[in-house]
Amino acid sequence: MPSKVIFSESLSENFLSKLEKEIPFENETVAIKLHMGEPKNPNHLKPEEVKKFVDLLKKKNCKPFLFDTTVAYLGKRHSAKGYLEVAALNGFIEEKVGCPIVIGDKDYEVVKGKIEYQIPKEICNVSVLVLTHVKGHPCTSIGASIKNLGMGCVTKKTKSDIHDSAKPVYVGNCVLCGTCVKNCPVNAIKLDKILTKRPIFLDCWGCSYCTVVCPQKALKPKVAIFDFLLAEAAKSAISKFKKVYYVNFLVRMAERCDCENKELKPVIKDIGILASSDILAIEKASYDLIIEKNGKDVFKELNKKPFSIQLEAAKELNMGNMEYEIEKL
Ligand code: SF4
Ligand code: SF4
Repeated sequence: MPSKVIFSESLSENFLSKLEKEIPFENETVAIKLHMGEPKNPNHLKPEEVKKFVDLLKKKNCKPFLFDTTVAYLGKRHSAKGYLEVAALNGFIEEKVGCPIVIGDKDYEVVKGKIEYQIPKEICNVSVLVLTHVKGHPCTSIGASIKNLGMGCVTKKTKSDIHDSAKPVYVGNCVLCGTCVKNCPVNAIKLDKILTKRPIFLDCWGCSYCTVVCPQKALKPKVAIFDFLLAEAAKSAISKFKKVYYVNFLVRMAERCDCENKELKPVIKDIGILASSDILAIEKASYDLIIEKNGKDVFKELNKKPFSIQLEAAKELNMGNMEYEIEKL
């Protein structure tokens, strides 16, 4: 049976009333998982948009708090204190959004899979509303709910481990065809045609796409492909939640992620907002709508890699249903 995905072109009262009935949280503490952006990049979810969900949860007698984690790379959001400063600059303060803001940085619980995933304690054993701003990303083509959880609900160590464990290892048989060079989303590969006669990786982000496209199977990921590890990290986080519900915002979609601290212009028109209790259904519906409204896979063109690899990894992990039915409001 297909999973239900609700679609609305805007955050209308009608849509919010529908979600009030659909979101399965009552009388409980709820973490709202979101990315609160960087100061120079204007595309992140806005405090006004998020507050509507805070108010909705309060109507259901819940105690919401906004939640995100510190990042592995250097910058203000590397520490909880710095992240709170960035969040405040972007308007995420308790007085404005109506609930506390919590940044996970230290204590965690462990889930074992292909690697060890450290899940911040603050979101263990609470229900989680996953509010995701959908946009392009070099490592997965599109960053949506799976990325919001897989990279956003783990510690800095796990974030680094995921990227590192997905990096390519050369196993032999390179014929210098150049396919990996052409398909690397961040142009990190050079071919050493003279000495070693194999690819050299310069500033690899660990997206694993070169290991997928190499026709000679000359490359393999250190542990598993990035898309699988990211999905497994998301699944590990979900395993620690009480209940979970997803909302994907297909608005202000730029080529790259809200993590980039620079002004990025949207590359396609706004589409609307999707909601579902099924993470795979909402991701597939988001991808299909982007292709349908633009007549092509825009983010594959921009980031080289197709989002279908991420969806297949989530399917392999039994995270949800690729078949869905849209209920349009
Ligand atoms: S590693 Fe594979 S894709 Fe890259 S040049 Fe060699 S054979 Fe071609
Ligand atoms: S894993 Fe391969 S394709 Fe991805 S960034 Fe590294 S070198 Fe490029």
